[in-house]
Amino acid sequence: MKGYVMQLQPFSVNDGEGIRTTIFMAGCPLRCKWCSNPEGFDQKPKTAFYEKLCIGCGLCTTVCHVHNGINLNDPKQREKCDGCGKCADVCPKNAKKRMVVEKEVSEIVEEVKKHRLFYMQSGGGITFSGGETTMQREFLNELSETLYDMGFHLAMETCGYFDFDALKPVLQRMDLIFMDLKHMDSEKHAYLQALAMKRYWKTSNA
Ligand code: SF4
Ligand code: SF4
Repeated sequence: MKGYVMQLQPFSVNDGEGIRTTIFMAGCPLRCKWCSNPEGFDQKPKTAFYEKLCIGCGLCTTVCHVHNGINLNDPKQREKCDGCGKCADVCPKNAKKRMVVEKEVSEIVEEVKKHRLFYMQSGGGITFSGGETTMQREFLNELSETLYDMGFHLAMETCGYFDFDALKPVLQRMDLIFMDLKHMDSEKHAYLQALAMKRYWKTSNA
């Protein structure tokens, strides 16, 4: 089974006990104004463009199947882009980067297995994060079941916005669950969500 993943971050020391690998999964039901990973709002492949790193060599334009130019931040190019990531693969300066990619459960398992010694020595393990990790319930279920059966210490970071009954098997495998309290004041949170949603729709429909 495949899921949309932003990043596998090894040597994470702030996402649970010990040394961990944090799996940032794409997709979120919220649109907080202060989000630190807005590239993970949606579950679809995405390629970023960092203009400051670009040297204008044009290599990326030679592989783009929708004939995009260099400036992927241009709304018209962004609209045509399907996030295939071929331009990122050839960019010599990392000015283009795959931000959200599809990964098989087996690929992730192979990757995290390499760091098992560090988890064992430090009391660490694997942390599921996002986006909102529970948005990909089937994928999270298969991935967490596989890693649980292999004996990894499992943690999950969530905003708590999910169906608890549907997610019960996943929750039961976790050694640690930590929740983001987004705002103490529900009304203010709703207001800031609405502001961020407005901005989000403006950008994605530009
Ligand atoms: S990600 Fe793919 S479609 Fe988008 S600009 Fe790069 S090569 Fe073109
Ligand atoms: S390949 Fe990279 S450095 Fe070259 S033009 Fe494209 S984005 Fe810029």
